Amino acid sequence: MGSLVNYIYILSGALFVLSLKWMNSPVTARRGVFAGEAGMLMAIAGTLIGHHANWEWILAALFIGTAVGVPIAYIMPMTAVPQRTAMSHACGALAAALVGTAEYYQRQPHADTELVGFTMVALVIETLLGFLTFTGSLMAMGKLQEILPSRPLVYKNQNAINFVLFAIAIGLGVRVILVPTDTWIFPIFAGLSLVFGVLLILPIGGADMPPVIALLNSYAGLSACAMGFALDNKLLVIAGALDGSSGLILLLFGAFGQIQTAKGKTEQRPYRSASAEEAASILEAASSVIIVPGYGLAVAQAQHKIRDLFDSLGKRGVDVKFAIHPVAGRMPGHMNVLLAEADIPYDRLIEMDDINGEFPQCDVALVIGANDVTNPAARTDKSSPIFGMPILDVDKAHTVMVIKRSMNPGFAGIDNDLYYMDKTLMLFGDAKAFVSEILKELPAAVRA
Ligand code: NDP
Repeated sequence: MGSLVNYIYILSGALFVLSLKWMNSPVTARRGVFAGEAGMLMAIAGTLIGHHANWEWILAALFIGTAVGVPIAYIMPMTAVPQRTAMSHACGALAAALVGTAEYYQRQPHADTELVGFTMVALVIETLLGFLTFTGSLMAMGKLQEILPSRPLVYKNQNAINFVLFAIAIGLGVRVILVPTDTWIFPIFAGLSLVFGVLLILPIGGADMPPVIALLNSYAGLSACAMGFALDNKLLVIAGALDGSSGLILLLFGAFGQIQTAKGKTEQRPYRSASAEEAASILEAASSVIIVPGYGLAVAQAQHKIRDLFDSLGKRGVDVKFAIHPVAGRMPGHMNVLLAEADIPYDRLIEMDDINGEFPQCDVALVIGANDVTNPAARTDKSSPIFGMPILDVDKAHTVMVIKRSMNPGFAGIDNDLYYMDKTLMLFGDAKAFVSEILKELPAAVRA
């Protein structure tokens, strides 16, 4: 029976790996979700087969989880995905922490044999990360949903206080590992972990929350991985390690802009601006247009208007594509999610490496609420904080039009040379409002 369960777990682990792989592309993402679901179902089936006792509780959890999860998936708007993800992490992390706590108290009477060395280390890591991720994720969700103030909350000696608290929590954790029979320490250790999760997120602003969620995702995964070691469950080790490492990769990639942030002043240089009417006639006359979406498009919720523009230009025989930068917006894949919400065909969304070669042949690059990801300084200016960051080669298009509200910088806080080029026209306004204006002008442009 044991080996059958192990085979099921291996198959389920393989499905989790495939699920992650397939979720890399919008074309295979649906298959990826099904693979993940099938993997989870097999994991539960394996656990049912392996544990004869209490299986009705596992079934009850399966039904309750499905009854809660399915409506959430349908009701939640695409734009609320970051906070929904934070909520999932909170639930996963709490589950891991509670399992760790239950294991500790259940095995405690036989501490001499059952809570020694490695098991105890795994239990402490599991509960520490689990509890702090639980409260940290709830805080992140609150800030993103603006239930809590989204601005950073800072106070004097904040870092020192956080550090001391964390050091005490670690100290107590070490004590629990060394003397597991001292049961009074465990609740204090768990309480400090919960408090630390709150304090960790307080100084972080709402706009920086997606990379934080990636970090919390990683913690929740590592907590589950530690749980796998504590329970001697190979599938949990695999799934936790996958979750932990994918979260960390998201963070390293996503936080790029934050690490490089340099709030510089923008220069007073001449630039050209144009009206919606002029923009409409330029677009109408073009045979190829590449639309470059960015954070501003997401803020303005302009995705449906962009879809209308795509349709309208398409009817006029203009070839319209979308250039997708991997870190455009504020979370990895942000643009794919937004444009998919507006049902823009996947085959029109072209990744950075594939589209960059097309800019020199393209008539118009229409940048909508994107800034850093189009800044040519990343290619040419060694002193720029974003030097070396891969960018979309928008400046190579014949004509560039940029919709944004002002000459203000983007996330990295630096000026963008693109805006001062002779070929560039600035279209000042909110992305949704300006695209609506262009749409109104398009029929007129056709008749002219
Ligand atoms: P940027 O933040 O560089 O620029 C967005 C631009 O949108 C701003 O310059 C702003 O200009 C404009 N804007 C804001 N609101 C509106 C609106 N309502 N209508 C029209 N324009 C608007 O965004 P990018 O997408 O180009 O680049 C993403 C940046 O974020 C990168 O630096 C990246 O590293 C970083 N980042 C990405 C993460 C990820 O995982 N994707 C995570 C964290 C950071 P104005 O104010 O003039 O309107």
